[in-house]
Amino acid sequence: MNQHIQTFEDISQFANILKSAFNTVNDIFYIMEFKNNEFYYYFANQAGRGHLDYEKDMAGKTFHEVLPKEKADFLTRQYLKCVRQKKIVTYSDEVIVDQQKYIKESVLTPFTYKDQFFIVSVVRDVSEYTRKIIELNHIKESIETNQERLSSIIHNNDDVILTLDQDGYILDSNSACMNIFGYSQLEIVGLSIAKFFNNDHLDLLFENLKIALQKEQVQFDTYIYNKNGSEVHIQLKLIPLTIKGKVSGVYGIARDITKTKLEIEKLQKSNNQLNSFLNHNADPIYITNLEGKIEFVNDAFVEMFGFHKEDVIQKYNKIIPDWLVEDTKALYQVAKSGKSLKDHHLIRQKENGELLDISVTFSPIYNDSSDEVTGIASIARDITNYKKRELTILQENQDLKLLWKYSTDAIVMFNQLGEIIKVNPMFTNIFLFEEHELNSLSDIYLDFQKNQFQKLIRILQEENDCLQFETKRMKKGGEVVDVLATYRKVENGETFAIATYKDITKEKQIYKELSNSEEKYRKVLDSSPEPLIIHNGETITYLNKAALKLAKAKKVCFIKGKPLLNFVHPSNRENVIERLKRSKESQFVTEPSIEKFVTLDGETIHAEISTAAFQEHGQNYNIVMLRDVTQKLRADNSLKESEERFRIIAENTKSIIKILTPTGKVTYCSPSIEEILGIPVWNEIGKFISSNIHFEDFPLFESSMEECMKSGKTIALELRHIHRDGYAIWLKSHITPILNEQREVEKVILISNDITELKQKESTLTQMAFYDYLTNLPNRRLFYKQLEQAMLTTDKTGKVSALMVVDCDKFKIINDTLGHDVGDEVIKEFANRLKLSLRNKDTISRIGGDEFTVVTPEMNSIEEVSYVAERLLKKMSEPIYIQGHEINLTASIGIAVYTPNSYSMDELFRKADKSLYSSKELGGNIFTLD
Ligand code: GH3
Ligand code: MG
Repeated sequence: MNQHIQTFEDISQFANILKSAFNTVNDIFYIMEFKNNEFYYYFANQAGRGHLDYEKDMAGKTFHEVLPKEKADFLTRQYLKCVRQKKIVTYSDEVIVDQQKYIKESVLTPFTYKDQFFIVSVVRDVSEYTRKIIELNHIKESIETNQERLSSIIHNNDDVILTLDQDGYILDSNSACMNIFGYSQLEIVGLSIAKFFNNDHLDLLFENLKIALQKEQVQFDTYIYNKNGSEVHIQLKLIPLTIKGKVSGVYGIARDITKTKLEIEKLQKSNNQLNSFLNHNADPIYITNLEGKIEFVNDAFVEMFGFHKEDVIQKYNKIIPDWLVEDTKALYQVAKSGKSLKDHHLIRQKENGELLDISVTFSPIYNDSSDEVTGIASIARDITNYKKRELTILQENQDLKLLWKYSTDAIVMFNQLGEIIKVNPMFTNIFLFEEHELNSLSDIYLDFQKNQFQKLIRILQEENDCLQFETKRMKKGGEVVDVLATYRKVENGETFAIATYKDITKEKQIYKELSNSEEKYRKVLDSSPEPLIIHNGETITYLNKAALKLAKAKKVCFIKGKPLLNFVHPSNRENVIERLKRSKESQFVTEPSIEKFVTLDGETIHAEISTAAFQEHGQNYNIVMLRDVTQKLRADNSLKESEERFRIIAENTKSIIKILTPTGKVTYCSPSIEEILGIPVWNEIGKFISSNIHFEDFPLFESSMEECMKSGKTIALELRHIHRDGYAIWLKSHITPILNEQREVEKVILISNDITELKQKESTLTQMAFYDYLTNLPNRRLFYKQLEQAMLTTDKTGKVSALMVVDCDKFKIINDTLGHDVGDEVIKEFANRLKLSLRNKDTISRIGGDEFTVVTPEMNSIEEVSYVAERLLKKMSEPIYIQGHEINLTASIGIAVYTPNSYSMDELFRKADKSLYSSKELGGNIFTLD
């Protein structure tokens, strides 16, 4: 038989089969023939022709005749690689069709047929897959930045931020939780927030949780027990965590308010004390600022001078007569320099113009931290009456006697040497000395005062008739008493002067307590880190340093005394006016609220304020605590934004996005998990990530996770996951650890994509490269290997091998009469029958259409080969039943027998083909053995 004709026929038959098979497939197929160092189009399926956009028949054309030069050069290089390496070559290239970029992956498989060399090219469109990967990488990047931003907001927050599920279990927290709860961030996850609550407060917690779960934000003050058992007062804000319109949990923001609570209590206490000291003091007290304006007067002041409070507050001191203003300024100057002036004898006027003799003690008021004097407190005492009394004593003996006897002051007459002439009963009462027990007046002087006595006598003699001052004297027995001492020179006979002592120990003590309280009050207020202001509904009357800083003011006077509304943001003024009105009606402590203010430099700030109202002299005051939440509000907003963005991405991507704790617990999972793995999100939260990974892939996952945690870098891997219905799904996962500032892994983000289809395609391609798509039998390439092996065995053992070519007789009739589908079924049945009739070590292959090859190694004799062929023919001729048709077919077999070192594989094939031809010539249903 002419070899050329046979090759031609085989190849055309092969091409026909390929044509019908490949034309129905969407993937692109080409077969190129390689000869004379050039590639020629041998076959292209429909998709392939469409793809090339080449109108004319391209069979026999080279790449350069069909494609642009650049493309043709590229392809030639790839194909040559395949020829040289004699193995599968894969490459990707970009194609632009209708301005759309497609990425194609081509797999080139070389094969020889007879003496010809071919390359099959299978081209797949992988654009979608590549695009998905790029898109995912984008998503991943933005999630990472979002996540990092998010976590930095959460983790740099002093407030504890908890993520709670619907039952109050903690899913996540920031590191601040150590401060309040005493648990580390890792320990606290999984605990119920109720654990920290006193039983009495559980109802409050769950009630509020319920409200938050109904999408409403709530805030309440409560206390919790820290891990170490200590009580912490917190303000807890519960914010609904809405995913796709559904509340899936709650954000809990807890702030430690223990300190603030204590301070407010202390402040209120001190405030009350101060009020009672100031207001119930019998002596008039007034406080003047450095400008000389009165800032405070007490009830005794009103009583003594007859001015109403509102007439004097914030005004220049009206009790100073015009002609004494300059003198007073000099006194103030002394007090301003930080010196106290005790018992200064002054003349002051009442509202009706009447003049009063008063004794005033001036005390500078210090700004706590800067040692600056900010005002002067004056405590006055009316001494008009004393003076009158003294005069009466001197002038009217009778009255003197009465006075002498009943005076509440101690009175003593003494001579120029200081020797006692006479003491009144009150003297003994106060100092416990009887008249005869005393020699000199200096006996009641304290030790260090003794030398002052001579000085006193001299002053009385030479400078001043009358002296009055506060000092200390000593009782019999050594007890010290505070006295207001008055010495008046009389020079009446033996008597040189009269001294009176008023016991002012009690008053002194009150004054001391008063200034202590004042100091305490100021200290608490001034040193409070929280900005505080006091206002009377109109003007600001006090502000501490923190408030000064918040208002961006350099000096107190820029704010103090200024209208309150100057600092309230215009959009908020009406609101504040309304609230002030209400606060006047009743004393109350308002709920904290967030208000807008403006600083001196015009900046808008948001402050959380809480107000406590109090009354002083019938005047309403409010003490307002402010907390600058501008930053926090901003942070909250951007947190929300970032959350929202993250959520939109996570909820809308097809990929499964999970956030894990470093131990692998799932704290977030995107809804696509339900679509891909059939698992509802709620079922995944709180579980370990490994729970649905295929057990065979688990070691790979574990080692990758370990590496990822160690290196801090993203790792990609392909794993099988188990669908809820039990089958495996291939997912490609990118694992990205999120590091904190200490470069420790804080969270892990896992993005997984379904690649099952891709995997299937991959395995189909492998199958197609080595197996026949219709019968699943090995194809020609695999068969060659088996035949080669059989020949080697024969060479070694001497046992013969046989190559049989089996071909159906008149198969075309089946196709023509019953259709191609039935034809396919018949081919499958033939393949089955061959398989069933042969041994395991025999190899069957379908080399095209209705033609099969069989290699039977290790046969004992040619007779045995004949016997096998006989059995095959018999089996093949049994009727086949398909779709209600009974089909009677026969086959013809051509056999070539291989004895040790007899023929080449090609020769063996030619012999078998020749034998088959002979069988066909003889009418079929017969075998021919060469
Ligand atoms: P002969 O007795 O000479 O073998 O005649 P025949 O009709 O069997 O013709 P031949 O073996 O030369 O050709 C086999 C035919 O099988 C050619 C083609 O129409 C058909 N064929 C090839 N591949 C397939 C296939 O995959 N499915 C079906 N149904 N038919 C195929
Ligand atoms: Mg045939």
